[in-house]
Amino acid sequence: MNRLLAAAFGLLLAGCVTHEPRNLDAAKAAVRHYRDSGDYDRDIGTVVAQAKAWIETRAGRHAPGEKLALVLDIDETALSNFPYMKTHDFGWDDGSWNAWIAAGEAPAIAPVREVFATAQRLGVAVFFITGREEPRDRPGTEKNLRAEGMGDYARLIMAPAGGPKLTSAQRKTAARAALEREGWTIIANVGDQESDLVGGHAERPFKLPDPFYLTE
Ligand SMILES: [Mg+2]
Repeated sequence: MNRLLAAAFGLLLAGCVTHEPRNLDAAKAAVRHYRDSGDYDRDIGTVVAQAKAWIETRAGRHAPGEKLALVLDIDETALSNFPYMKTHDFGWDDGSWNAWIAAGEAPAIAPVREVFATAQRLGVAVFFITGREEPRDRPGTEKNLRAEGMGDYARLIMAPAGGPKLTSAQRKTAARAALEREGWTIIANVGDQESDLVGGHAERPFKLPDPFYLTE
């Protein structure tokens, strides 16, 4: 009788479909492992090697009068916020985040700094296009980029405070279109989010890994 009951219960369980997503602690552990194992750095290295090779090739066939530009995102592209994420267990709040940006102490993502240096060496102007907000985040961001060896850029284009309600993708696409209207040819666009890269207005997009958060 007990065996019969157990079999019936087993059937009941087998037939029961749940929709439980991945356990949050397990997901966080997987993200930490991806970063700490070196896989994250290796993936960044792969994308960066492609970006550098393309910039070198394209700058080599620089037509007379052409003004070449590289677009870089900042968060999880030029600078890493991993120290903040680690302290906050991948959580986030306005006050501590704004203080973190204002402190300007995010470490560079070193391979991306090499992309920056490659562009500088070849006379390709670097434009940062970021979701960080104007004017609140400008001093900390400028200080941080300088401190991390990326202070010699053409322009830092930020999100306007109280500006129109646009998605990050819409705002960043419009910013690249505006650069083109100024006469710049954007040969490469490097970002960690799809929203950095969709919408065109760059000869080649380069997508860095970001398992940490999603910006649309
Ligand atoms: Mg980013």
